Amino acid sequence: MNKIASIVSQINQTQDILVIGHVMPDGDDISSVTSLTLGLKQLGKNCFGSIDYSIPEYYKVFAGVNELKAYEDLCDFVPQIIIVVDSSSPDRVGRFQTMLSKYRTIVIDHHATNTLFGDINWIDVSAAATAQMVYDLNKALGVLYDAELATTNLVGIATDSGFFRFSNTSERVFRDAAELVQLGAKPYFVASAILENRRPEQMRLYCLMVNHMTVEDRMAYSWISYEDYLKHNCVDDDSTGFIGEMRALKDIEVAILVTEFPKGEIHVSFRSKNWLDVSKIASTLGGGGHARAAGCSFKNAQIESVLTEVVNLTRDFLQGGTK
Ligand code: AMP
Ligand code: MN
Ligand code: MN
Repeated sequence: MNKIASIVSQINQTQDILVIGHVMPDGDDISSVTSLTLGLKQLGKNCFGSIDYSIPEYYKVFAGVNELKAYEDLCDFVPQIIIVVDSSSPDRVGRFQTMLSKYRTIVIDHHATNTLFGDINWIDVSAAATAQMVYDLNKALGVLYDAELATTNLVGIATDSGFFRFSNTSERVFRDAAELVQLGAKPYFVASAILENRRPEQMRLYCLMVNHMTVEDRMAYSWISYEDYLKHNCVDDDSTGFIGEMRALKDIEVAILVTEFPKGEIHVSFRSKNWLDVSKIASTLGGGGHARAAGCSFKNAQIESVLTEVVNLTRDFLQGGTK
């Protein structure tokens, strides 16, 4: 039996289902958790969706996002299965991690760095977004799509493909997106909610990142400290997308953004353009991701020392490369 068929059979045999995604959620994560939860509820399942992290405000206009539960609301819930989406390792699900060993777990993901931590692992690295896999699963389950569900499902495909610009933008991406638009999804509603909703404070924070930026051979890097976020009345979500602007620089192969939020918690984002596999760099540091977009996190760390370490390591990878 193929993976999707065995997941359908598992779901058909169960009633109580928990769907969870990863901390620091992106559009694909939120879209995947929400679309699958809406689909399973429509089939009459006792299903809850949750992400153990704050959800950026601008995603709350999409159907199902406001119904996501907090971790605290689900402490007493005893699921028959847990479905983990868009998460490459068990530590990515926050406090839900301790529940994974207690219940049958299904992992649905598109990261090559996935550690296969489920009882069933459906990993499709050829999918640009986990939301495409959720769309296939919902179809296989017989979920009916209305305009709201189609729009929510489109969010993940749009965001993880960089709004149909990244190198993962395949024929299948356009086909799935076109099907969802045919079902009523509103691409401009998705794009404007996510891309055209910036506060002036975010643009000022962006200027600060540019001021902190260093450009050297094939690499651009910068940093934003916790104090910088506070000074600009911003939170970590407000710098989403900034790194893409550094990658967009001419002759740059790799961009790195080191952010601190909250104090002492450091996140490193890597983006590459043509050939450098940044998931390998992030994996060396305990993180993961994709060849062109990866990340890792540190607790109780100093921004300066993390920046120095990741820049030196990336320089080695760049020089060890073939180009
Ligand atoms: P980001 O730079 O945070 O936007 O993340 C880029 C990619 O790397 C996404 O696919 C994330 O799922 C993945 N990623 C980010 N942080 C981590 C981490 N700490 N561990 C594993 N994967 C990560
Ligand atoms: Mn994600
Ligand atoms: Mn994803």
